[in-house]
Amino acid sequence: MEFIDLKTQYRRIEEKVRDRINTVLEHGRFIMGPEIKELETRLAEYVDAKHAIAVSSGTDALSLAMMALGIGHGDEVITTPFTFIATAETIALVGAKPVFVDIDPVSYNIDPEQIEQAITEKTKAIMPVDLYGLCANYDRINAIGKKHSLPVIEDGAQAFGATYKGKRACSLSTIGTTSFFPAKPLGCYGDGGACFTNDDELATRMKQLRVHGEDRRYNHPLIGLNARMDSLQAAITIEKLEIFPDEVRARERIGTLYTEALKDVVKTPVIEDGHTHVYAQYTIEVDDREKVMEHVNGADIPLAVHYPTPLHLQPAFEYLGYKEGSFPVSEKAACRVLSLPMSPYLSAMDQERVINAILSAVKK
Ligand SMILES: *Cc1c(COP(=O)(O)O)cnc(C)c1O
Repeated sequence: MEFIDLKTQYRRIEEKVRDRINTVLEHGRFIMGPEIKELETRLAEYVDAKHAIAVSSGTDALSLAMMALGIGHGDEVITTPFTFIATAETIALVGAKPVFVDIDPVSYNIDPEQIEQAITEKTKAIMPVDLYGLCANYDRINAIGKKHSLPVIEDGAQAFGATYKGKRACSLSTIGTTSFFPAKPLGCYGDGGACFTNDDELATRMKQLRVHGEDRRYNHPLIGLNARMDSLQAAITIEKLEIFPDEVRARERIGTLYTEALKDVVKTPVIEDGHTHVYAQYTIEVDDREKVMEHVNGADIPLAVHYPTPLHLQPAFEYLGYKEGSFPVSEKAACRVLSLPMSPYLSAMDQERVINAILSAVKK
């Protein structure tokens, strides 16, 4: 059993993917070929955002979002410490200071009630993360953003395909970003990502920043990046997007099955009203994680921990001056969370094996 089964998906779309790749090899426009525009049109339609900008990774999508908003040295960006490193790393990379706010213990997303006390005159944006594939509380967060005239950047790297109050992830704030890293809900066969916005000016700036800040060939009004997506990755993502709605349904079905089987024994994901979950990770909480992992791994079932160390305790962020105890909810979650094998192609038999292994490990 694999933690994320990408091979079964490939068998399903193999012919179409190979045709798409061949088309790119034949036309030879490997950079900014016609597939980029085609993918962007389809992504914008799927998310229901005015603009989609295909980029080189979810990490670069975050950098582009902040650069387009003019965030840099001396600025602060409020985010969660319970996320993948890229969220806060890019804040630091553009020259700003990550300011962490603890999470809500139920959703694992930034606790809106604690955001306002972290706002200073240096704050330039709020950056919630849709952890594990469940959107943050955008009604509350956008209201705070509006009250303080702060843009909200949605790190939707794990939530592409999820919905919040009937709207898709990545369309929920000023700018939404996502990742097409292979293991994400919508993955390509390498690195890729996208930015989404309804704001024409921000879209234009992100498009320029993606190509060295140029507005036309060899004219550079902005200092930018090389953050383009390859035509090949776009071609592959187009084919994957075709079957994505079907895969989202399978994810929901498998996630619900896990929850029904495990909810009386361990803490399982809680989906509050108005949310749908895409289970980028299906993550439970257990008391003695080491013991459970040993037992389940012993049954030849792969597991993962997302994430063992909250970002405020990462050596790279020591300079921010946070300590153990700064964000107790994140720290507690980091000791307890455990992600189970999850993909739209997880077979009923394999899922039953995972469930039985967890049940027997917890009862031991
Ligand atoms: C994966 C991920 C990213 C970065 O995406 P890449 O495409 O790997 O650069 C950013 N934020 C979160 C929350 C992620 O899970």
